[in-house]
Amino acid sequence: MSNKSLRVIFILAVLCTVLVIVTQFFWLKKAVDLEKKIFNSHVTIALKNVAVQLLKMNENTSTVDSIVTQVDDKYYTVQVNDKIDTVVLKHLIKRELLAQQIKTDYKISVFDCESQNMIYSEYVSMNNSEIEDFPLPSAYSKNMKGNNYFGVYFPLLKDFLTREMSNWIISSLVLVLFLFILAYAIFIIFRQKRLSEIQKDFVNNMTHEFKTPLATIKISSEVLKNPNIVKNPERLLNYATIINNETIHLTNQVERVLQMAKSGKDVVQLNKETFDLKPLVLDSIEKTYKVLVRSRGGDIQCHFEPESINVNADKLHIKNVIGNLLDNAIKYCKQKPQIHINCIETKDGVEISIKDNGIGISKENMKFIFNKFYRIPTGNLHDVKGFGLGLNYVKLICKLHGGDIKVSSELDKGSEFCIFIPKNIKS
Ligand code: ADP
Repeated sequence: MSNKSLRVIFILAVLCTVLVIVTQFFWLKKAVDLEKKIFNSHVTIALKNVAVQLLKMNENTSTVDSIVTQVDDKYYTVQVNDKIDTVVLKHLIKRELLAQQIKTDYKISVFDCESQNMIYSEYVSMNNSEIEDFPLPSAYSKNMKGNNYFGVYFPLLKDFLTREMSNWIISSLVLVLFLFILAYAIFIIFRQKRLSEIQKDFVNNMTHEFKTPLATIKISSEVLKNPNIVKNPERLLNYATIINNETIHLTNQVERVLQMAKSGKDVVQLNKETFDLKPLVLDSIEKTYKVLVRSRGGDIQCHFEPESINVNADKLHIKNVIGNLLDNAIKYCKQKPQIHINCIETKDGVEISIKDNGIGISKENMKFIFNKFYRIPTGNLHDVKGFGLGLNYVKLICKLHGGDIKVSSELDKGSEFCIFIPKNIKS
């Protein structure tokens, strides 16, 4: 499956997941509202029945319409406009609430209009264990109406609603958990895909790196098999030298891969010494890189500030680091290479930056270029050789010196790698 369709599937999956979560929470909220409404209507019916029966007992013929008032979610008052027998009231409330399946603690209070006071208050617990009292909120403790009335306060309403909605809550949690597991599985699949692409790329590169020398050796050895070659010692020597050089080249390649593959903090040993950076950089440029860059019509510019910069580091590894960065700056450039090297001494150490006008690196790939064997995928095009080990080595050496490497890049504009080697770091 192509990367593009995978990306589309991934985006669709994310959108669907978000949609499912939003819908679930929307319905959960609706269910909470509905549960509150059901509770309200059950309590209203129960308290209305209580009021009707109280009035009937007092042989009072007043109408009971709209005598139940919901003050807020947890508190209800019922106007009676008659004397209230608290023992009967308690019994009736309990019976009516149970009849409506309201199984949560409540507090009954009775207000007397003559004394303008609360004349009775009792906490009724549903589980008959220890009875905890909940004081009535002060706003409800004063007489709110000009009549006799009783109030019922449900302090544990939230717990009751949560219990009633436990199925909803559990199913939502299971759904969220399932989505998390799914997201993790997708993440693993993508990572595995990326790793297999890197592996495939590495094998492709290895094959290309080895194919050319092997082909040269094959042709040269076929020439050497010709009996007439002994009559021409100059040709013989020439082909023998080619075979020898290619064998050395192959051995070096194998050695490089093995060395890099096992390079780790415990394998690389630093031999630090104090040296001037300028001659080291200029020497590499003169001996190797200037020729390469000039042959492609480009140029390398160097800037040292100050002119002489003393570093305490492993000379060989630092030379390799600079070499690797310069190699890349030339390799990954499709036009005339223009390379700028800046070496600056700061109060904490030395900064060496290598800037090129090459193909650049996308943000997406920038995260991975320091990983072992990582090469930016180029499809089936293997025009630039490499094993994806250079930058990993560069970073390792910087870290071993107590420093670091940073990269900034823009596609089709170029890249800048900046390494920092601190001063006075004991190895
Ligand atoms: P190699 O060059 O052997 O593939 P490196 O570890 O040196 O391995 O680089 C890893 C990858 O980072 C390269 O394959 C290349 O795609 C990318 N890269 C490194 N340096 C540059 C650069 N200066 N410009 C553009 N791409 C680069």
